[in-house]
Amino acid sequence: MTDAGEVQTFRGPVAAGDLGTTLIHEHVFVGHQELDLNLPHPEWDEDALVDAAVAGLDELWELGIRTVVDLTVLGLGRDVARVARVAERTRVNLVGSTGYYTADVLPAYFQTHGPGLLVGGPDPLEDLFVGDIERGMAGTGVRAGMLKVVTDRPGLTPDVCRVMGAAAVAHQQTGVPITTHTHAPSRNGRDQLAFFKECGVAPERLIIGHCGDSQDLDYLRELMDAGATIGMDRFGMEHVLDEDRRVRTVLELLRLGYADRMVLSHDAAFFSRVTPPSWRAVHAPHWHMQNLPRRIVPQLIAGGATEEDVQQMMVTNPARILAPGGDRA
Ligand SMILES: [Zn+2]
Repeated sequence: MTDAGEVQTFRGPVAAGDLGTTLIHEHVFVGHQELDLNLPHPEWDEDALVDAAVAGLDELWELGIRTVVDLTVLGLGRDVARVARVAERTRVNLVGSTGYYTADVLPAYFQTHGPGLLVGGPDPLEDLFVGDIERGMAGTGVRAGMLKVVTDRPGLTPDVCRVMGAAAVAHQQTGVPITTHTHAPSRNGRDQLAFFKECGVAPERLIIGHCGDSQDLDYLRELMDAGATIGMDRFGMEHVLDEDRRVRTVLELLRLGYADRMVLSHDAAFFSRVTPPSWRAVHAPHWHMQNLPRRIVPQLIAGGATEEDVQQMMVTNPARILAPGGDRA
C-alpha cells in the first residue's frame, strides 16, 4: 500500500498537492518493439527523440505545466527505461502507468497463462499490474501511478474484461486510480462504469477517457452524475473532432456546474509510430502538449470559463484522483 497522499513519479513520490498543473493523459513515445526490430520506422531516432522530448517538457515547464502522466502501457510499446532517460533531464514530473492496451484480444501468451488455462498459474496481468505499482516497472524501480484500460469499438470482449478485472484487483490492492480509453460514438464509458462498479471500484476513482470526443451532454452528465471524472483529453485531435466543438462542450458543462468532474489533456506524444510526426504536422498541427496552455485555455477563458475553473480541471481534479485512495467512497 502506498502513502495515501503521495503520487509515484519517475523521480519518486511527490505529494499530490505538489503536482501542480497536470496533463493527465499523454504519451512520451508510442512504439512497437517487434516492429522496431523488423520494420524500423524511418522517423524514429532514439537519441534525437529523447532530446526532443526533454526540450518539449522543458518548454511545458515554462508554460506552467508541472506534471505529465504517460499512459503508454503494454500494447503501446511501453519502454520505461527509455522514458527514464527523458525524466532524469527535465524538471517536469513524469508519472508512469501500468495496464494493457488492447481493443479486442490479448497476445497468445495470455491465452495459455492464468487460472484454468493450458500452462496455468496466477493471472500474469494481476501480477504485472500490482508489481508495477508496488515494486516498480520493468526492473527500473519506477513505480506506476495510474492504471489504464481500453474499450473500443469491439466493446467488452472477454480479453478486455480480463484486463479490466485485473485492473480492478490492482486498484483495490493499491488505491492507484484507473483511467480508460473509450470509443465515444459507442458511449461505452457506461459499460466501463457498470463493469467497475460491479467489481467494487468507486466511480470517484475512475477517469473515463476520451469523453472529449463526444458532444452528447446527456451521456457525459450521466457518467459524471455517477461520480466518475471525464477526460476531455484529446485537444488537437482535429481528425476526430474539431477544436471548436471540444471547447464548446467543456464550456457548456462548466455552465452546468461540472468543473470538479472534468480533466483536460491532449493524448499527444513526442513520437508515435501510429501517427508519425510527418503525418501530424500536416493533419493535426495543434496536436501537441502545448496546445492547452497556448491556445485552448485562452479560448476557454474567452468563452466564459474562470481561472478557478481551469485550476480545478488542471490542478485540483488531477491531484484528487492521482492520490492513491484519495477520494475513496
Ligand atoms: Zn492515450
